[in-house]
Amino acid sequence: MYLFLFDVDGTLIKSGNAGKKALERVFNEIYEVKNAMADIVPDGKTDIEIIKEILAKKTDIDVIDDGIVEFIVSMYVKYLESTIENPDYIVIEGVKEFVQKIHYSKKNIAGLATGNVEMGAKIKLKPSGLLKFFKFGAFGSDSEDRVKVLQIAKERAMKLIDEEIEKVYVIGDTPKDIEAAQKAGFISVGVATGNYSMDDLYKENPDFLFKSLRDPDAMKLLKDWEMFS
Ligand SMILES: [Mg+2]
Repeated sequence: MYLFLFDVDGTLIKSGNAGKKALERVFNEIYEVKNAMADIVPDGKTDIEIIKEILAKKTDIDVIDDGIVEFIVSMYVKYLESTIENPDYIVIEGVKEFVQKIHYSKKNIAGLATGNVEMGAKIKLKPSGLLKFFKFGAFGSDSEDRVKVLQIAKERAMKLIDEEIEKVYVIGDTPKDIEAAQKAGFISVGVATGNYSMDDLYKENPDFLFKSLRDPDAMKLLKDWEMFS
């Protein structure tokens, strides 16, 4: 069995800045911080990392405890429900066909491995109709360390299936996705569908690099790809 772990933002969907808008609303309401995400690069970071970074850089809070982070997450998730429905929301090209193939194959399995907290990932993916293709996942709410998120995702896959996992592919749109895959000892697959170009991602030495999952060669990663060709 081959395991495919997918990042969410810039890899499966573009949320039309729904996450940014929701988080900025939270920081505006609690701390009266406007444009909290300005100068913060969220790409490839976990939600908790991003929240802690904003707390440290833009508020007077000295001690960041888990309670305040949890409270911010709960408000963020609530606001995300309303920002997610927007005209700029898209499912990225080639994604649906790719995950459908995994879904209908008995030799591959797909899961989520994302920096989004679990509720946030599910809200973000709901309009895409893709959620049913992912039987399990690991999230930014499991760990704020992306390498651990990947490891947890593999553990959950192993509990779900009886077969041995021969290969783990990590599909993501940022240098941090590639780096995390390398640190976890998994196969890194860069897709230039987010904010990073083919050149940007190439510098990170991914095992595979595609402009998007529509690239016919992407399908060849599947264990039984001949079936689909
Ligand atoms: Mg991403």
